[in-house]
Amino acid sequence: MKDRTLLMHLGIHPEDHHGFLNPPIYRGSTVAFPDVETMATRNQRYGYGRWGNPTNDALCEAITALEQAEGTVLCPSGLSACTTAILAICGAGDHILVPDNVYAPVRRMCETSGRRFGISTTYYNPAIGSAISDLFRPETRAVFTEAPGSLTFEVSDIRAIANAAHAHGALVLMDNSWATPLFCKPLSLGVDVSITAATKYIAGHADCLLGTIACQGTAWAKVKDAASELGNCVGPDDIALALRGLRTLDVRLQRHQENAALVAQWLESRPEVDQVLYPALPSHPDHDLWRDQFSGASGLFAFTTRACSREAVISMIDSLSLFHIGYSWGGFESLVMLADPGAIRTVSPWNDKGHLVRIHIGLDDPADLIADLEQAFATQLQ
Ligand SMILES: *Cc1c(COP(=O)(O)O)cnc(C)c1O
Repeated sequence: MKDRTLLMHLGIHPEDHHGFLNPPIYRGSTVAFPDVETMATRNQRYGYGRWGNPTNDALCEAITALEQAEGTVLCPSGLSACTTAILAICGAGDHILVPDNVYAPVRRMCETSGRRFGISTTYYNPAIGSAISDLFRPETRAVFTEAPGSLTFEVSDIRAIANAAHAHGALVLMDNSWATPLFCKPLSLGVDVSITAATKYIAGHADCLLGTIACQGTAWAKVKDAASELGNCVGPDDIALALRGLRTLDVRLQRHQENAALVAQWLESRPEVDQVLYPALPSHPDHDLWRDQFSGASGLFAFTTRACSREAVISMIDSLSLFHIGYSWGGFESLVMLADPGAIRTVSPWNDKGHLVRIHIGLDDPADLIADLEQAFATQLQ
């Protein structure tokens, strides 16, 4: 069955809910048992709110099917999905390889809590491919991947990295928030643990925070146990928002993709712009890797300006009227932010001629977005 059809059916069990199509929002900590024996033997489908409820199960079932995984756990944010997955696989004395273009809060966790717990991290150039083999140590347990990378949008060769990792007995994690399981199936590329910030496209309306971790193979028991040991759980209202988001994920992503392509092409034609960092553009250096590993492109990308003052870029951004200035992405809204990837990276220096502007193309009419950028460029960047 096609994903588009699956999205209309996953997690929907009217027979369990008096015919109501959507799973109810089960709010609850205590679950009552009929007698001591049932409690002692846990011989009942649900036993305590933190261990799960039908709302939670509906979303896990949906993500597991879309990811073609063995199982899924939910986390209260995308970041907690990344960190829970790392802590599930690595412990004191272990080593992890992390890409230099990783979502910055993941790097921060590796440098703070990760280090305090005895996990050491080596950063790698996202363009490394199979040469990542040289970075393995006997204690390397995991390779974290993210594609395209945060802010700079390089696409790593996930298959090559996964092959190298498995040859060295390490597990592979991938942050797939940008593509969602509709536009990339990490487990089919050899990844063991597929992570999404469901906050972004899955929830899709900028109104909740949530993360998912879908696993296959030996990773599943590790992630399932660690998430439970650490006390992870998500409120049912947020889960219901993510379930609602799933029903329209395909149509929204298609529109984000169409709009982003038009805006990216327009930006490419502009004299104020140096590079457009969008893997779906044929001019992108990793376009072929993107085509090979992804079936679509979402609405998030960046561009770098020609050499100009920081003040000019700030004025340009401030004079946009349809783009909100803010973090996150994946909702209906168009967003813009100024970023400095060079300040974060340590092994693959980032030098652009001007400044990097990250944009999320929302569901607005792309002609209006282009007109907004055009007026901002005309008044501030020339
Ligand atoms: C936003 C983001 C996250 C974190 O998601 P939150 O729900 O905001 O914690 C993780 N990875 C990537 C690539 C992101 O862009």
